[in-house]
Amino acid sequence: MNKTKVVFYRGTRGMGIVISVSYEKDRVIFDFGAPFTPLAEVYDGTVLHRQTNAVKDALLLGRIPMVPYVFSKEDLQDIPLEAYGESDLNTAVLICHLHLDHMSEIDKVDPHIPVYIHEDGLKLLQALDECEGKKERRSYSGFRYHEEIRVGQISVMPYFSDHPCPGSSSFLIRTPDSLICYSGDIRCHGVRHEEAFAETEAIGKEKVDLLIIDSTTTSPSEFIYDEETIRELYRTPSKQCLKGCISEEGIYEAITDTLKGSDALGIINCYPRDTGMMKELIRHAEMIGRKMIFEPSYAYILYQVTGVKAAVYEDSNDRYILNGGKLKDFETVSCDTIRENPGHYILQNSYRNILDLTDYDGIEGHYFHLFGEPLVKGQKEYQIMENMVNKLEWTFHTYTNLYSFSHCYPNHLQYVISQIDPKSIVAVHSKKPELLEPITGKQYYPEEGKEYVLENGELVEV
Ligand SMILES: [Zn+2]
Repeated sequence: MNKTKVVFYRGTRGMGIVISVSYEKDRVIFDFGAPFTPLAEVYDGTVLHRQTNAVKDALLLGRIPMVPYVFSKEDLQDIPLEAYGESDLNTAVLICHLHLDHMSEIDKVDPHIPVYIHEDGLKLLQALDECEGKKERRSYSGFRYHEEIRVGQISVMPYFSDHPCPGSSSFLIRTPDSLICYSGDIRCHGVRHEEAFAETEAIGKEKVDLLIIDSTTTSPSEFIYDEETIRELYRTPSKQCLKGCISEEGIYEAITDTLKGSDALGIINCYPRDTGMMKELIRHAEMIGRKMIFEPSYAYILYQVTGVKAAVYEDSNDRYILNGGKLKDFETVSCDTIRENPGHYILQNSYRNILDLTDYDGIEGHYFHLFGEPLVKGQKEYQIMENMVNKLEWTFHTYTNLYSFSHCYPNHLQYVISQIDPKSIVAVHSKKPELLEPITGKQYYPEEGKEYVLENGELVEV
């Protein structure tokens, strides 16, 4: 009987993935984030986190599942769960990328357990902490693509995954008797899709027993297609971006087509963790003779992760980083300069500094909501954002297939599966995994929290 055990603690019916792969006394846990539920989130900006009860609150709120031997006895307080140190398990936690649904709870893991993040992700984490004046409760270890991470008898190989968040990875997990692939969040329409396909092909050369794959785009409620269309797209695995599926490049083209030759100011609301997107915005702005300007914290994050020194908005309400003297030799651009020639600029503005936009009252503008916060229609903040844009009489641009920005389209997903050709498949990160219907490999629907083994490639309950 095989000794590799898999437990899906969270993620078989949505976001907030926590999966453990163990072999005898060695255990690797993949991802440690809370589900993304903006409409039901207790920490809505008014409720404060309680530092001394962080672990207990997270477990009681269901932000993290009850994973044994991960939290310190002290942090667990009276929660009935085995604490770290109460077994001789050798555990490590690996994070596929720094979006919150994959890592928001990592600071709660006992500090004796190593937590691995790609080295670019680590740079991002440090820069974010600096911008927020936050001190980490624990330390993290960095990894690189194609450099093995050893956790006792388990070997993990990280692969590049094309995603707007830096250091995004897929993992190939080798135990003495099994080979498992956890895709992390994947997409195949990004500007680096060729590299992404090459990595998929490299993984496909291995004999994967179990593929645990991001199947976000099978969630109809979060996607532009109806169930029948999704089913149809799944029958046509291909590398192409099909009709109605906008690519990352397609989004930038839509922006530059709108702004090209226009005197209007361009405004971008993007996410500070998506540095890949920030770099592309600079490049595309240049292509139409405009300068991309960032708020100080965004410019600082971009510089820390990529080394790119972008132009900084000196009249930003976001003063913390600017006052800290961290952007001394960066080019700065003032509000007056932009007002003189709005058609020469694209300004990044985050929701919390949305009042900065009132300085452009009376100037023509295009507001591009590029997956920054607030993310979801129906959120109160989303309505406020739209109201503000209406008040300024600007045009609001958004991209309806929200989740497609950082996830695979159906035909791409089926292509990835056909390349890897696993014996077994578990769809994660999806509300409707049944819609995956893989054309190769047998799909399983494991119960969360139950232990499974791989028997001749089949997922069998222990
Ligand atoms: Zn995710």
